[in-house]
Amino acid sequence: MCLFCQIANHQQKADIVYENEELIVFKDINPKTLIHLLIVPKRHIKSINELIEKDKDLVSQMIFLAKDLAQRQGIAEKGYRLTFNVGRGGGQLIDHLHLHLMGGGEIK
Ligand code: AMP
Ligand code: ZN
Repeated sequence: MCLFCQIANHQQKADIVYENEELIVFKDINPKTLIHLLIVPKRHIKSINELIEKDKDLVSQMIFLAKDLAQRQGIAEKGYRLTFNVGRGGGQLIDHLHLHLMGGGEIK
C-alpha cells in the first residue's frame, strides 16, 4: 500500500486537518509555505494522467474543498496556489493523486 493510502487508512501518522468519505487533508511534512496542505482522495489514483470520466466529481470535490480550506485558513483573500504535480518530470514524488494548497508566505 502506498504512503498516502496508509495515511488515508490511519495506518501511518499525519497531521490531519479534514476528512470525509472520499477525501483526506493533512499538513505537508516539508512545507514550502506557512500553510501547505495536501488534499488527497482516499481511493488510490496514481496521478492526473490516470483520471477517467467517472473521476470528474471527485476532482471537482478536491478543488472546492481547497477553496473552502483556503477560506478557513485565512488565505483566500490574499491568494494561494493550487498545484497538481504530474509524473517525475512534473515534480511528482508520491504516486498517489494529491492537490497542494499553498499560501501564507514562502518558507525559506
Ligand atoms: P509531490 O512532489 O507533488 O509528489 O508532493 C509530495 C509531497 O508529500 C511533498 O511536498 C512532501 O513533502 C509530502 N510528504 C511526503 N511524505 C509525507 C508524509 N508522511 N506526511 C505528509 N506529507 C508528506
Ligand atoms: Zn495510494
